Formats: sequence, structure tokens, C-alpha cells
Amino acid sequence: MVKVFLDAGHGGHDPGALGNDLREKDINLSVALKVGNILINHSVNVNYSRTTDVFVELAERARKANNYNADIFVSLHCNAFDNPSAKGVETYSYPGSSNGAKLAKLLQSSIVSSGVYTVDRGTKTANFAVLRLTNMPAALVEMGFITNGEDANILKNRQEDLAIAIAKGILSYFGIPYKDSVTTLYKVQVGAFSVKSNADNLANELKSKGYDAIVIYQGGYYKVQVGAFKVRSNAEALANELKAQGYDVIIVVV
Ligand code: ZN
Repeated sequence: MVKVFLDAGHGGHDPGALGNDLREKDINLSVALKVGNILINHSVNVNYSRTTDVFVELAERARKANNYNADIFVSLHCNAFDNPSAKGVETYSYPGSSNGAKLAKLLQSSIVSSGVYTVDRGTKTANFAVLRLTNMPAALVEMGFITNGEDANILKNRQEDLAIAIAKGILSYFGIPYKDSVTTLYKVQVGAFSVKSNADNLANELKSKGYDAIVIYQGGYYKVQVGAFKVRSNAEALANELKAQGYDVIIVVV
């Protein structure tokens, strides 16, 4: 199965760009999680540099993707400029990476053809750390200018459309057709905590047992999720396996 690593830029004490009452880190994370859900719905394996509002070093983001052996790396960001009239979408790849450039072109053209943008600023290359340090084809999408009113409106109110466009671009890289109707996902959740360290401890315990546990902050709780499946019986099989080990498991349908 294809493996995609999604990198929501910034996080924690690093809010990224600010503008129009928005924080870049929040938009990046929200869109990344939505993209991930769509990809999982298309039987793509997904891993993230972060699934909550935490700070992760650039080198660590790349290291995680390399350890995961991802087929591609996609980083999501929002642009900013002193002049609020600057606007539009642009996508970067690493200089000299032809597959990175191919991925960047597919992402850019998918966003443009979906209409979730103001100006097509095209694809570019840049020596960004996450593009340089990742071993696989990588692209970084600047989804819009948080400092521009029109773009900020897209970044705030059209995150689902942006996520679909980005997911379509990723899927097209692998030749996987996008299916509109797959929306139900069965998530295996092992716990929900108000204190993040409790969730992290449980996730680490599960990881040490070989489970792909992630912590997602949602609705005021840190939730430990061990898997997300299109097929309910697959989620039930994992839930039963975890229950047999004494874990408190629920299946969340989204
Ligand atoms: Zn950024």
C-alpha cells in the first residue's frame, strides 16, 4: 500500500504566519488531518509529523517521514507578506528533484482546477529543510496568504475543499482515482484525555507493542487513535484485539 507522510507546518510555540485573526499552525493542522482522512478512505497509509498543536523541529519532521519510509512527503503551509494585496497559491519542490517537481505540479494544478484559490502563482523550487532532508519526493504547498482577506477567507472557510483538492493531487501522483462517495471512516479509539501527557503515555505504550497510535486533539480532548479503516470489520478486528489486552476501546464513525 502507498504511504503518504503529511506535514502540518509549525505548531506549539511556533504559530507560523498570523493575519486576519488566523494562525497558520491551526489551518495547516486542520487541513492536514482532513487530507489524511480522505487518503485513508482511498486505502492509502498515512502518517503525520503532528496531529496536535505541538512544536516539531524541521529535521525531526523529515526524520519521521524517512523512518516511516513514506513514498511521498507533503508539507502544508500558509503564506504571508507585508503587503496585504499579495495572494494566491504556490507549491514548492526541491531543486533537481524531478519527482518532487512532478508532485508539486500535480498538487498545484489540482488546487487550481478545483477553484479553491485566488491567483495561480505556479510551482517553484526552494532549498527548504523539509524538502532537502526528506529521502522521498517532497512538495510544500503554500495554500494561500493569511495576510490577504480573500485568501484568509478560503483558508478559514473552505478547508474541506482545499483538503479534497490536495488529496486529489496526491492520489493522482499514484494513479489512484478519486472517489467522491467514500466518506465513512471507522476509527479505533483507545482513550480520550484532558491531559495531553496521559494520552502520549498511552500512545507510547501502544507504539511499543507495535501499534500505529496517534494522538489527535479534538473537541477539548486528546484522543488516542490506533487505526482508521474504510471497512467496519477491520476496525472491529483491531478493537477486539486491543480489548483482549485490557484496553478500553471504542469505534468512532466519522
Ligand atoms: Zn509556514
